[in-house]
Amino acid sequence: MSNPSILILPGDGIGPEVMAQVTRIIDWYGNKRDLAFDVSTDLVGGAAYDAHGVPLHDDTMARAMEVDAVLLGAVGGPKYDDLDFSVKPERGLLRLRKEMDLFSNLRPAQCFDALADFSSLKKDIVAGLDIMIVRELTSGVYFGEPRGIFNEGNERVGINTQRYTESEIERVARSAFELAMARGKRLCSMEKANVMESGVLWREVVTRVHADYPEVELSHMYADNGAMQLVRAPKQFDVIVTDNLFGDILSDCAAMLTGSLGMLPSASLGAPMENGRPRAMYEPVHGSAPDITGQSKANPIACILSFAMALRYSFDQGAEADRLEAAIEKVLADGLRTADLLGEDGVTPVSTTGMGDAILAALDASL
Ligand code: NAD
Repeated sequence: MSNPSILILPGDGIGPEVMAQVTRIIDWYGNKRDLAFDVSTDLVGGAAYDAHGVPLHDDTMARAMEVDAVLLGAVGGPKYDDLDFSVKPERGLLRLRKEMDLFSNLRPAQCFDALADFSSLKKDIVAGLDIMIVRELTSGVYFGEPRGIFNEGNERVGINTQRYTESEIERVARSAFELAMARGKRLCSMEKANVMESGVLWREVVTRVHADYPEVELSHMYADNGAMQLVRAPKQFDVIVTDNLFGDILSDCAAMLTGSLGMLPSASLGAPMENGRPRAMYEPVHGSAPDITGQSKANPIACILSFAMALRYSFDQGAEADRLEAAIEKVLADGLRTADLLGEDGVTPVSTTGMGDAILAALDASL
């Protein structure tokens, strides 16, 4: 049987710097765990624009549809700020999400013990936190029609439309129930059924899908209360499922409970492919960080944790994902920190590559 395939799209700014560390870890799995991947690399974002005049070449898009998983670094940068909207680096990312139909966006908020002091909340509220927010990514108010700014009488009106079909709600709900089954078997669905019809339908469909997952304890919460609860007592949650708009806000809020942007991975999943694997793209939450590009200051952990998610969700290698996360936990517990995580006494500053070296050493030590 052929090896699972990965398309790496490092992108711009610190994207290639953090992705270089992921590549070393992928190689480690091939050499030390007999888990080899067929890896190909291509351009996206500003790098693709520089080479082809578009932020994503059609050949790259076609390749992304063929592979088992896409790993993306980051796109964008000041050099491209004045480009026409249609060729901005971010359009490359949006095209991938749209054509791969990645409707389920997984944003874990996990607090490594060694970094609990970095949270804006008290240590005991976040220490040990491990929740997963599932955000619907391809529909809702960001896409609904009609939309636009129109003239109405003697003033203008801005319109966006929240719209969800039953099937759109059902597929993201299923993906959240599946995740809950693999985790703590608790799912909280968040909407505003008190004031929005789309929320009433959302609640109805999620409740219907629950019948197929009787082992999961399902609760419903209004999204505004959800925001409060996330800050008050985030550990009450296991998996949260919510729509595109609420998910955008709630996942950022939950993510920041855990400290630095340089620590946050994500996965975007679509429907199963012929081989049963979900179409999938994994990427750190952070951007291309032009302020630190080329200085060896970037924290590669968000990108490495994104690869851990690929091991778990695309390649059915949960134990190896645990191994990688434990290696990261160990390195942080040993006090190694990239520039974004400095500030405490007694920690050891390391470069991007230095962090990669330490994680590889911890992986070696895990054998
Ligand atoms: P950013 O995430 O790039 O940076 C915000 C701050 O966090 C910066 O101070 C940066 O140095 C720091 N930071 C980010 N990642 C880090 C890491 N791994 N290690 C250490 N520090 C890190 O957001 P921004 O500055 O608003 O945007 C910069 C560019 O990135 C823009 O062109 C923006 O459009 C683009 N962007 C891309 C994505 C993406 O590719 N998914 C996401 C957000 C922003």
